[in-house]
Amino acid sequence: MGLTIAIVGRPNVGKSALFNRLAGRRLAIVHGQAGITRDWNEADAQLGHVSFRLIDTAGFEHAEAGSLSQRMTAQTMDAIARADLCLFLVDARDGVTAGDEIIAAALRRAGKPVILAANKCESRAVRDTIHEASSLGFGEPIALSAEHGQGLAELLDAIAPYASEDEIEAEEPDKPLKIAIVGRPNTGKSSLFNRLLGEARALTGPEAGITRDAIAAPWAIGGRQVLLHDTAGLRKRARVAGHEIEELSVAGTLNAIRFAACVIVLIDAGAPFEKQDLAIADLVAHEGRAVVFAVNKWDLVPNKQSKRKTLREDLDRLLPQLAGAPLVTLSALTGEGIEKLSEAILEADKAWNTHVPTAQLNRFLAGALERHPPPAISGRRVRIRYMTQAKTRPPGFALFGNQLKALPQSYLRYLQKGLREDFGLKGTPIRFVLRTSKNPFAKA
Ligand code: GDP
Repeated sequence: MGLTIAIVGRPNVGKSALFNRLAGRRLAIVHGQAGITRDWNEADAQLGHVSFRLIDTAGFEHAEAGSLSQRMTAQTMDAIARADLCLFLVDARDGVTAGDEIIAAALRRAGKPVILAANKCESRAVRDTIHEASSLGFGEPIALSAEHGQGLAELLDAIAPYASEDEIEAEEPDKPLKIAIVGRPNTGKSSLFNRLLGEARALTGPEAGITRDAIAAPWAIGGRQVLLHDTAGLRKRARVAGHEIEELSVAGTLNAIRFAACVIVLIDAGAPFEKQDLAIADLVAHEGRAVVFAVNKWDLVPNKQSKRKTLREDLDRLLPQLAGAPLVTLSALTGEGIEKLSEAILEADKAWNTHVPTAQLNRFLAGALERHPPPAISGRRVRIRYMTQAKTRPPGFALFGNQLKALPQSYLRYLQKGLREDFGLKGTPIRFVLRTSKNPFAKA
């Protein structure tokens, strides 16, 4: 079931205007004249990347005499009962009225989550007085103008958390975190696998009933259940001129990457970031997984400090699509550095699951555009108007504007870099979706 939102408020605050704005179309039904029986005034609506079912309660009040509490008909209360979330609309120009108080009391009784919005905020003067409405007990109101389409980004931010379970494949804390170790032959994948499992056994004891199946083995980090992909399938033996050599099994590697949420790319400290390492890392980025780089056989490295610095620089330069990703140096042989690996996995997983609020994104975008405007393409200006995060796992950002297809890759890289820095998106690929649209809130 999707998210259902009811717009609630006393007559004339602009419920229908907001309904039409969000549902993206004018409804053919005329306002509540006596005698017109209306069904639910309902529609599928969309705001930014979030879709929901919207119920307008405007038709349910009777224009004739009777106290407002009487006019809050059973149907309005039904609408509230059916909704997951109530959008409580007040008129910014009127201040808080007795009618608003009655509705506030009804909403409190209903016990549903409420987002308070002050409509008709197109003039600045009004905006400055709306905090008065916080006395209704639903926090600071969002300043809206349904008529002019203002304040919708803030409204989206308020709604998005309720939609996240439908819209965004939410992280299920009970589900184990799936991890795979990939890398060239001989980098030490099996050794690391066994080391990690050994630690798990040491923690849980041999009788704890660790069941290992063919694909995955359980483990835990920081209280979080983990399933570790068995790396044994990544070996492929090939015979070349009578010698048996080990090759990378590309199919096996791809299976492991697809199994995992977070991939450990294992690098040999003795020969870091070779062509095959880069190809594997690129595959991980392409598949959209969280990533941690683990440089193994660290016990053999003489100048650890300078080596670490070079590794960091090499990673960021050679793999710009994963720049800033956690880099851990360790030894599967001695166990040194293993605990840092757990931290890095959790960090990458967090970045992978990050959702940045729209208001923050657009502040970021304004700054980025100002520092470095997009280039003109054959005389035509590329305009980015608006940005919202359309998905997580990995984070994907929708850009709205004109001529976006002409936006050079270098400019997207620039935005990507800024997003990484400002919102800590390290250890995850970042995606962009380009949408040419004048009005990001228009229904597709
Ligand atoms: P895989 O092909 O990636 O699974 O690599 P293996 O786990 O089979 O390891 C390849 C070789 O590297 C073996 O001889 C290991 O003993 C050795 N090795 C693995 N990890 C380390 C380490 O941290 N330090 C050292 N010195 N040798 C290691």
